[in-house]
Amino acid sequence: MQMRTQPPATKRLRPANHGRRVRREKRTIEAMLGIYCRDHHGDARASRGGSLCDECTTLLRYARQRLDNCVFGELKQPCSQCTVHCYSKSMRPRVLEVMRYAGPRMTFRHPVLGLFHMLDKLRGR
Ligand SMILES: [Zn+2]
Repeated sequence: MQMRTQPPATKRLRPANHGRRVRREKRTIEAMLGIYCRDHHGDARASRGGSLCDECTTLLRYARQRLDNCVFGELKQPCSQCTVHCYSKSMRPRVLEVMRYAGPRMTFRHPVLGLFHMLDKLRGR
């Protein structure tokens, strides 16, 4: 587990985020990884809610943990527009790649989550 900067002690003591918004973002990234993994790593189970490949599982676990610890909590912007960049240097490009690939495809496979994702993007501008 690598972190670029240590957050202040007070922030580390906060309970993990568990609001509606954060939970929805977790579902979104999970759905995106399902699409991405199935198309790139050839695992047909992924899109049916089955297991992701090891690499994508690691990424999902990491993304969930970042959301748990997001300093903005329920007020957060989409990760892609966030100024904090809490993702580590090695993870950030991988997550962005997944989002870039799966984002536009979400509308078809997960219409509701995809819609929320698009609204977030519009709102962030
Ligand atoms: Zn994968």
